[in-house]
Amino acid sequence: MEATEQQSLDVERVREDFPILEREVGGEPLVYLDNAATTHTPEPVVEAIADYYRRYNSNVHRGIHTLSQEASVAYEDAHDRLAEFVGAEHGREEMVFTKNTTEAENLVAFAWGLNELGPGDEVVLTQLEHHASLVTWQQVAKKTGAEVKYIPVTEDGYLDMEAAAELITDDTELVNVAHVSNTLGTIAPVSELADITHDHDALFFVDGAQAVPNRPVDVQEIDADFYAFSGHKMLGPTGIGCLYGKRHLLEEMEPHLYGGMMIERVTYEDSTWAELPWKFEAGTPVIAQGIALAEAVDYLEDLGMDAVQAHEDRLTEYAYDRLSEFDDVDIYGPPGDDRGGVVSFNVEGIHAHDVSSILNDHGVAIRAGDHCTQPLHQELGIAASVRASFYVYNTTEEVDALVDAIDAARDIFN
Ligand code: PLP
Repeated sequence: MEATEQQSLDVERVREDFPILEREVGGEPLVYLDNAATTHTPEPVVEAIADYYRRYNSNVHRGIHTLSQEASVAYEDAHDRLAEFVGAEHGREEMVFTKNTTEAENLVAFAWGLNELGPGDEVVLTQLEHHASLVTWQQVAKKTGAEVKYIPVTEDGYLDMEAAAELITDDTELVNVAHVSNTLGTIAPVSELADITHDHDALFFVDGAQAVPNRPVDVQEIDADFYAFSGHKMLGPTGIGCLYGKRHLLEEMEPHLYGGMMIERVTYEDSTWAELPWKFEAGTPVIAQGIALAEAVDYLEDLGMDAVQAHEDRLTEYAYDRLSEFDDVDIYGPPGDDRGGVVSFNVEGIHAHDVSSILNDHGVAIRAGDHCTQPLHQELGIAASVRASFYVYNTTEEVDALVDAIDAARDIFN
């Protein structure tokens, strides 16, 4: 099959910003298709980090000296930039910087869940949740006596919405759903789920780790109460994630970490808390990472999130179609034209780790394993799978290289 589509992103131009893509692996050009795990960092983002350390490295909110003021303004503005990117109503007050999506999940689970949940309460997740949310709510439920229920996934990889409507009841306190599944690519009907959740006066939390990087997201349009994502999956550095929360909810919540920076007044007897979002950012925060993530957002917006999504959709569908040419490749999840930018599969008779190893010999980097969705893999009746995932710098030629390398793996094992 020929790659025929017109790409509205100038991918060759984009690739110039990612020197890492010029690397060779095992004597072959690197084909990096592990973007759902982490994406690469373009030069302007690397430069933003270097510029911070070279010119104005300083702690924030503390000093009145020039460097501290410059760092504080850049760091605070970065919150506004991220808030704006996902359509928050109240800017920085609704945007907490965390270490990653996992920490954002834990923040809500500990700051809200531990105080609000109790016996008789229910938290509703889906069968396809990442361990970041699944393990977190499972454990907080154990501590509080609440119960976790799971919306099932249908045979063709969609969320069973009839079951969802029955599982979400007046006993439900919170529903937590992955916007895009990192294993199946399933796109959750988040607005519909938000409506059902709110009809029962429960809170709606979206794990957007695989959505914000790839598609325009508007938290107000979704009517999410909380929305979490990670910087390193959207061209930003590691060590920063974001938690959007509706202002009135964040105001009502107690902090989950205590210490410097998050206080207003402290005596030997008691303390009061700083204004939002600082109340949730105890200690010296993720300064360089936050500033660099704002730069990544500028980069993505220059490309245009509609163009990013269109590119992602085209590559995903192309990969799905090409992999479907093999009779002995089992692909998991919805059809190629109705999923986020991941394609998980197995080659019959070859363990996912062996496939991965042979692909690596061809320079192709993919993920093999359970992708932090062990229960979902158990549900699918498999221990592991191979996952290819795409981003703004990938090409159809790279998908072809993946397919050729899979063919080589089949030859070796047959
Ligand atoms: N949620 C989903 C859907 C993910 O794909 C991931 C990472 O792969 C996470 C949560 C956790 O992200 P992080 O490891 O950055 O906390």
